[in-house]
Amino acid sequence: MGGGMQPRFDGTSSRRLLARLRDIMAGSGSGQDRLDKIVTLIAAEMKADVCSCYVMRAGEVLELFSTEGLNKTAVHNTRLRVGEGIVGYIAGHARPVALDNAPSHPSFAYRPETGEDPFQSLAGVPILRGSKVRGVLVIQHKDRRRYVEEEVETLQTIAMVVAELVAQSELVNPVEVTTTGDPVLLPARLSGTAMSAGLAMGLAVIHRPQLTIRQMVAEDADAELERFNTALQTMHSAIDDLLEAASLAGLSEPRDILETYRMFAEDRGWLSRIREAIRVGLTAEAAVQQVQNDTRARMSHLTDPYIRERLMDFEDLTNRLLQHLAGKTNGTDGATLPDDMILVARSMGPAELLDYDRTRLRGLLLEEGSPASHVCIVARALNIPVVQAGDALNRIEPLDQLIVDGDHGQVFIRPAEDIQMAFSEAVALQHRKEQMYAEIRNLPSVTRDGVPISIQLNCGLLIDLPHLTASGAEGVGLYRTEIPFMVRASYPDVTAQTTLYSRIMDEVGDKPVVFRTLDVGGDKMLPYMTGGEEENPALGWRAVRIGLDHPSLLRQQLRALLLAAAGRPLSVMFPMIAEVAEFDGARRLLELELKRLEAQGLAPPSGLRVGTMLEVPSLLWQLPALLPKLDFLSVGSNDLMQYLFAADRGNPRTSTRYDPLSPSMLCVMRRLVDECARHKVSLSICGEMAGRPLDAMALIGVGFRTLSMSPPSVGPVKTMLRSLDVAALRQYMSGLYTGADHSLRDKLKTFGRDHGVII
Ligand code: PEP
Ligand code: MG
Repeated sequence: MGGGMQPRFDGTSSRRLLARLRDIMAGSGSGQDRLDKIVTLIAAEMKADVCSCYVMRAGEVLELFSTEGLNKTAVHNTRLRVGEGIVGYIAGHARPVALDNAPSHPSFAYRPETGEDPFQSLAGVPILRGSKVRGVLVIQHKDRRRYVEEEVETLQTIAMVVAELVAQSELVNPVEVTTTGDPVLLPARLSGTAMSAGLAMGLAVIHRPQLTIRQMVAEDADAELERFNTALQTMHSAIDDLLEAASLAGLSEPRDILETYRMFAEDRGWLSRIREAIRVGLTAEAAVQQVQNDTRARMSHLTDPYIRERLMDFEDLTNRLLQHLAGKTNGTDGATLPDDMILVARSMGPAELLDYDRTRLRGLLLEEGSPASHVCIVARALNIPVVQAGDALNRIEPLDQLIVDGDHGQVFIRPAEDIQMAFSEAVALQHRKEQMYAEIRNLPSVTRDGVPISIQLNCGLLIDLPHLTASGAEGVGLYRTEIPFMVRASYPDVTAQTTLYSRIMDEVGDKPVVFRTLDVGGDKMLPYMTGGEEENPALGWRAVRIGLDHPSLLRQQLRALLLAAAGRPLSVMFPMIAEVAEFDGARRLLELELKRLEAQGLAPPSGLRVGTMLEVPSLLWQLPALLPKLDFLSVGSNDLMQYLFAADRGNPRTSTRYDPLSPSMLCVMRRLVDECARHKVSLSICGEMAGRPLDAMALIGVGFRTLSMSPPSVGPVKTMLRSLDVAALRQYMSGLYTGADHSLRDKLKTFGRDHGVII
């Protein structure tokens, strides 16, 4: 075969080649056989002197897997590192290359064993799957020639087919790959941030996965164009609907998506490239995917965050378009999902998480997000471990084995057998513990020396409430009312709030529930609330401060609570109170609402209890003035810690710098116990420390008798307290308050161990 005068490679040649490719893929034979046939076909149809396929092996090495035109003995012997030679250059840059004078290219590397020295021209494309390079496909010609766009695009299309062969492990034995150091397929560990505790093992499910395209080549280009136009139209209206909903709700994110869409719609280049690919003979899906691969290749080396965001938008739109083409609107199709699944996502909303079948969902891995993000709040409520780690999507393939360690913020990808064994044991142990917790559920919550301790729950969503029965907790010590406000698109009116609070009261039945009024601001901004940027949000305009400045907001919430109670008992708690005057102000609003209720002839609550959180240290010096006004007081130790030690709870550098088990914090706690006892005010604690067994032990030692915690903490804390002798602990702790220690954690741990406390 030679360069010479050949008929131009055009749309017809491309269609014929792709039709034959389809026959090869539909036919029988091993992966290697099919690859050999593909390479021979390309060389023949493209009148090339050489066609070769390199596949990525362990250690970022490109191995010659098949060739027509080079020495066959080089197959499986010639290996190039990524970046080495033109083939390595194509892999390294993940983009096509077409050269009429290959030897003059700075990356040219001569490999005598291949016998390739007489070839002047070279066109090569990366074999891409997702955003990963899985190999390189090249053609070469003896003479110098300019490659036409159709040739490169046809190679790209074929590369997509070969990518499927590689991904299905038909070419590379997965065992070989997993034992030799391939950064793509080797076991790997991602270190990230723990966002929801627990351990989970399962198979990776990529949220909004790339759809697998079964058919690359179309019989009828006009019909495909028609399908494409229809899908585009459907996507258009779907996004318009979204925009309308977003405008009503005042949200900005979907509007951004729409703007991106418009940018594309007006980008004739994008649409015409897809239509052109369809005219050449691709199915609409393959054409959309090919243009996306190309876009990704062009943009993937850019690090500018704005461009990376846009690249994500391109991906998002491609996926949407592919889903519309497939006639599907979401990727949560239950039938195809594994029984134990670990969801992997760039980011996700709480509703999207709830779209998945909860009985199969074992863990969640996010590239972006914070523990306070809504999806994490929901995941914790569902008891699903969550880890946030960057670069997850690049390193994980669908159905990869994963271990999510939500206690230590790490993820094991394709773990080796010994790690799998160790974690299976840890997961089994966790299950055994859960069984044990279930067994003690109905046993009394009393210490070994007979001191009753009331265990209550912290809740914030209706889905938390079934835990009340399941855990055996006595009531809800903290209902964070802001969470429903945060996941809504607009401010819920009195009727909506009344319905919600009334449902909560119905669900808890006879058990008590403490409603905390809106605690927003700071890091918990409402999407529809405009407060302006604050330099120190934690010290800013938040919680009851907002309620006092906008009394109608707080009054509406109090009104809804009174209406929902409809003659039932009601407990209301105000957050972030810093002085008695603030409590008085909030209480006055409640009185006004009570009067209003009375004026309407409606029944007041059968027992109204009003309390405050203790989160701001200034209040500690007003206890004698405050306590006579209160029915109860609950310590918000999360905020109290940050204000007491001047250490931001959301900043990893400061959030663990000081220990709640420090003499100063425990002195504060002891003082609260004494003062509340003197004024006969019930005292509880609802910060995170109440849910950690060792911290809870110390709190009981200090004198707390009511602890409110998230549902998964109930079992461990109850197990601890049932093994605790409070009198001995109290005696031991009496010598600890005045010391100079940074932390009393180790001493308390030693006490626990020496006295058989199960921590
Ligand atoms: C706290 O501050 O301890 C508390 C329980 O409130 P939140 O964590 O909701 O601020
Ligand atoms: Mg707080």
